[in-house]
Amino acid sequence: MTLINREETEALIQEVLEVYPEKARKDRAKHLATNDQSLEKSNKCITSNRKSLPGVMTIRGCAYAGSKGVVWGPIKDMIHISHGPVGCGQYSRAGRRNYYVGTTGVNTFGTMNFTSDFQEKDIVFGGDKKLAKMIEEIDQLFPLHKGVSIQSECPIGLIGDDIEAVAKKTSKEINKPVVPVRCEGFRGVSQSLGHHIANDSIRDWVLGNRDNDNSFETTPYDVAIIGDYNIGGDAWSSRILLEEMGLRVVAQWSGDGTLAEIELTPKVKLNLLHCYRSMNYISRHMEEKYGIPWVEYNFFGPTKIAESLRKIASYFDDKIKEGAERVIEKYRAEYDAVIAKYRPRLEGKRVMLYVGGLRPRHVIGAYEDLGMEVVGTGYEFGHNDDYDRTIKEMGNATLIYDDVTGYEFEEFVKKVKPDLIGSGIKEKYIFQKMGIPFRQMHSWDYSGPYHGYDGFAIFARDMDMTLNNPCWAFVKTPWAASDDAETALAANA
Ligand code: SF4
Repeated sequence: MTLINREETEALIQEVLEVYPEKARKDRAKHLATNDQSLEKSNKCITSNRKSLPGVMTIRGCAYAGSKGVVWGPIKDMIHISHGPVGCGQYSRAGRRNYYVGTTGVNTFGTMNFTSDFQEKDIVFGGDKKLAKMIEEIDQLFPLHKGVSIQSECPIGLIGDDIEAVAKKTSKEINKPVVPVRCEGFRGVSQSLGHHIANDSIRDWVLGNRDNDNSFETTPYDVAIIGDYNIGGDAWSSRILLEEMGLRVVAQWSGDGTLAEIELTPKVKLNLLHCYRSMNYISRHMEEKYGIPWVEYNFFGPTKIAESLRKIASYFDDKIKEGAERVIEKYRAEYDAVIAKYRPRLEGKRVMLYVGGLRPRHVIGAYEDLGMEVVGTGYEFGHNDDYDRTIKEMGNATLIYDDVTGYEFEEFVKKVKPDLIGSGIKEKYIFQKMGIPFRQMHSWDYSGPYHGYDGFAIFARDMDMTLNNPCWAFVKTPWAASDDAETALAANA
C-alpha cells in the first residue's frame, strides 16, 4: 500500500532541490532517493556518512555525543568525566533516559554530571593536572564506583592534552580502570565516529581484562545484549523474553550495564545486536578475537519480535527453539488484544520518520502491525550498510533522505502530508506548530519501553494517543489553511 508513486516521489525530490545553488543541489541530490526494493546495495541510490552541507540546518550530533551520550554514559557503575568545558557535559546529561537500577551517587552514576569544567587557564596551560586531581577526588567521594572514563570534548584534542598518560597513572593510584576516550566532537562527520571510537576504547582498555580469568561459570545459553541503551526500560523488556526462552543474559551493553558485565562478555556464546550502527564494531571484534558469533535482532512489534526470537533460537538447541515458540504463544493473546484495540484507530495512517541508529528501519514493522505505513524514512548518521537493510523494509517508491536538512524535511512533510511524524526533539515543536501529530522517537517522549511485547503495548497506546488527540482539531496545518483561503477566494469571486 503505497500512496505515492515513483514519478511523484522523484518529482518531489527535484522540486525540493530546486531552491539550492547548483553546487549544494548536486551534493544534496546524492542524499535523497526514491526507494527501490529490487536493489541489493543502497550505494546505487544514496550516499551517506558525509560531511553535512555548510549553511544548512543538520540535526546531527558530534563524536563526543556518540561516545559519552550513547555508548559509555549508560555504564552505570562507572563515572564518566566530560573532560572539557561544562556545556557539553551538561547538555549530554540525563537526556537519553537510560534507566538503571541502583542508588544514584552511591553505586550508580548515570544521571550525574562530572566535568573538568575547563577554564581559559586550562586551555593555555593544559588540563592534565586538573584531570588527575579530579580522578583522585572522585575516588574519595564515591568509593563504590568501579572505574572512570575520560570523555574528551573538543578543546582537549586541540591543545593536545595527554589523557592516556593521566589514565595510566591514575588507574594505578586508585587501582581501578581509567579509560581515556578520544571522542573530541570535531572528529568525523557526526556522532557515528564517536560510537566507533567508544567501541575501540572498550576493546583496548576493558574487554581483555578477564581473558586469563576462568573463575566465571559459563553455561551453553549465555548471551549478551549489545546495542540496547535501556531507553525507558527497553533492555528490561527485551531481557524478559530472552530469559523466558531459556537464555542467560550475561551482559547488557550498555543500558543498565556494569563494567563487570562488559568484561565478562567475551565468555558468552552469542552476541545479540540490536543497534547495529553503534556497536557492530565491537561485535565484529569479539567474533574475530574470541570466535563469538553475533546476530542482529529487532524487538519492535510482534511480527519482528517473533522473527527475531526464532532467528536467535536457531543458534541454539531444541530447548531454546521450543522456548522461543513458547514465548511467542504465551504473549499471543496479549499482543493480539493490543492490535485489536488500536489497529482500527490507526489503520491506513501514514508515518514519516527521521531518527538515528536503528530506528529508521526497525520500527517500520511495529507500525505495520498496527496497519500504518511508513512513507518516508532517513538516518541522521547512518552508513550505507544501514540503508542496505532499509531498502528491503520500506515500500517501493517511498522517500529516503540522509542527513535531511531542516528545510528539506519541512518541504517533504508539506507535500507528503503524513498523519504522524516520528523524529527528534529539535524537530518536534516545528512540526507540532504546523499541526502535525509528532512522537519524539529518540527517547520515546518521556514514555517507553517500546521494545518487546510489553513495549509494543505502550508503543501502540502512544501512537494512538498522539495521532487521535482531539487537540489537533484546533491546530490548522499550513496546507489546510491555504485550502481554506483558496475556498474563500473562490466563494468571493
Ligand atoms: S562538538 Fe565539541 S564543543 Fe560541541 S558538544 Fe561536541 S564536544 Fe562539545
